[in-house]
Amino acid sequence: MTPKERLAAYAAGEEVDRIPTTLSAGETAPPLYGYKIRDWYFSSDIMFDVESRLAADFGADNMGVGLGLRALVEALGTRLEYPEKGVSYVVEPKFKSFAEVDGAELVDVDKDGRLPIIIESFEKLMDVYGDIRTFGTGLAGPLTTAGQLIDTEVFLRGMIKDRDGVHKLMQYATDNVVKCARDIHKRLGIGLMLSEPMASSDLLSLRQFKQFYKPYLEQAVRRMNEFQGSTAIHICGHTRDRWDLVVGSGVSGFWVDNLEDIGELKELYGQQVSLTGNVPPVAVLLEGSPEDVRKAVLDCLRKAADSPRGYTLCPGCTTPVGTSRENLDAFMDAAWEYGRGARKGCLPRGLQELG
Ligand SMILES: [Zn+2]
Repeated sequence: MTPKERLAAYAAGEEVDRIPTTLSAGETAPPLYGYKIRDWYFSSDIMFDVESRLAADFGADNMGVGLGLRALVEALGTRLEYPEKGVSYVVEPKFKSFAEVDGAELVDVDKDGRLPIIIESFEKLMDVYGDIRTFGTGLAGPLTTAGQLIDTEVFLRGMIKDRDGVHKLMQYATDNVVKCARDIHKRLGIGLMLSEPMASSDLLSLRQFKQFYKPYLEQAVRRMNEFQGSTAIHICGHTRDRWDLVVGSGVSGFWVDNLEDIGELKELYGQQVSLTGNVPPVAVLLEGSPEDVRKAVLDCLRKAADSPRGYTLCPGCTTPVGTSRENLDAFMDAAWEYGRGARKGCLPRGLQELG
């Protein structure tokens, strides 16, 4: 089956040759092919080459260049640094104070930051792989966007001292996330998922989550669903105390971090959302042996492959820079072996036959 056929059949409840499997490796994969990440960021040709070679070498089901956590805020005016090695980081946020949010312009995907380069890479990829692959991308959600448009300290302090300011910034971030997603969807016809590393309980209390994030998550999902039908989310870190709120926001899928138990998530919310995850990226994919990778894949499939609304095998977060080819091969081999003969709501035949 081509990835396109596999994902369509699986979504329709049919048995497929292998459990849907994605590698969250776009931004971190260039070194595997001799490219500097810094060069990848600014070249649609390098993006095209990396995606093509990932597809040829590993054959995961996803294809597409992600906006990552920072492409949108950069497009809006936050200044980034692109180090010689490693991924970009924020050096100067767009806003110094909440007052500056008034009258700030919304993003233009045709000219701002690296967004035109990313769109161009999709056009090149779709020309070649449009018939056989399903494309998608993701971007930082409202909270992670807001948190990089202003100094993080100012943002968090504002939750205590300037609530109106925080709400104003959250609305501006939400409007930009939705506009960016809508305009990219309009150009390319692809769906976009949200990433929210700032929404975990490691960074945001449950009270803050309810007050400053939940309304904007719900709004973003509702507005994005208007053009793309469904919207999934990834949150890095601990989220157990807010699963009901995340799922209740209307998301269609939850890619949970490996710090949480995907088996427990399935028991509680597998009827409501599709699940993705959650092979440990650092301890297993980066630092483990191929045998460790196989065991972790087996463990994830045993826990979640029979989730009622479907399951996608994937690392629990971004695949780390420096992950070996051997471990990525082991990941895909185990997906084929244990995840063979998969159907939504059932354990794959590959697992059943293990006993
Ligand atoms: Zn993550």
